[in-house]
Amino acid sequence: MRKKVIAGNWKMNKLPNEAMNFISELAPLVKSAENEVVLCVPYTDLFYSLLHVQDTNIKIGAQNMHYEESGAYTGEISGEMLKSIGVEYVIIGHSERRAYFGETDETVNKKLKKALSLGLKPIVCIGESLEQRESGEAKDIVTMQTKLALEGLESDAVEKTIIAYEPIWAIGTGKTATKEDANETIKWIREEIEKIYGKKVSDSVIILYGGSVKSSNAKDLFEMSDIDGGLVGGASLDAQELAKIINYK
Ligand code: PEP
Repeated sequence: MRKKVIAGNWKMNKLPNEAMNFISELAPLVKSAENEVVLCVPYTDLFYSLLHVQDTNIKIGAQNMHYEESGAYTGEISGEMLKSIGVEYVIIGHSERRAYFGETDETVNKKLKKALSLGLKPIVCIGESLEQRESGEAKDIVTMQTKLALEGLESDAVEKTIIAYEPIWAIGTGKTATKEDANETIKWIREEIEKIYGKKVSDSVIILYGGSVKSSNAKDLFEMSDIDGGLVGGASLDAQELAKIINYK
């Protein structure tokens, strides 16, 4: 039985005092949640958020990391640095990083290997563009991205990897994939993992849906057979709304 994970992605939003106020508001609302509750916050909020989630069931994640341990990479943050302050999760390969910051399937693979080697819990984002969906290429794109992201990983590492299927056309646009399309696409991803690693592994990998998830569509999406929760952008900026998504049942 796969655990449901609901992760907020604040992107470049919220100052430390806003992050702490948010956590104070969210914590009592989600304290009985059976799902894993994760907030992926900007680097500058990480330490404050980690201190503030103590004695709650909220976990903290970063939104990116570098694959090298240290060195001349001005402006970058390594996995070791995240680990050293107690960060548990890290988003890798978000489509905004792929589109604006030169992230590729190759860097995603390197970051994923590094995150896993450090015991960070990676949330790897994949997903097709609208053009690719409309021209019938979605399956090829997401299976290829899955294969390239996981290249060279052992089965036990794959089992620890969380994948977020995020159709690019649904991110921040208010357009959500239908629950049937999202579930079918996640099944394609699972089939690809099964092809390489076998059914035991593919059945145990947590795969989230992301793209304009809100309280009004969360239940429909999260109750589908293969959708194990969500990566939530815009709607995660409001504690009341995020709590409704987390308590979707
Ligand atoms: C995201 O940032 O990963 C995301 C899915 O954003 P939104 O929920 O705003 O579409």
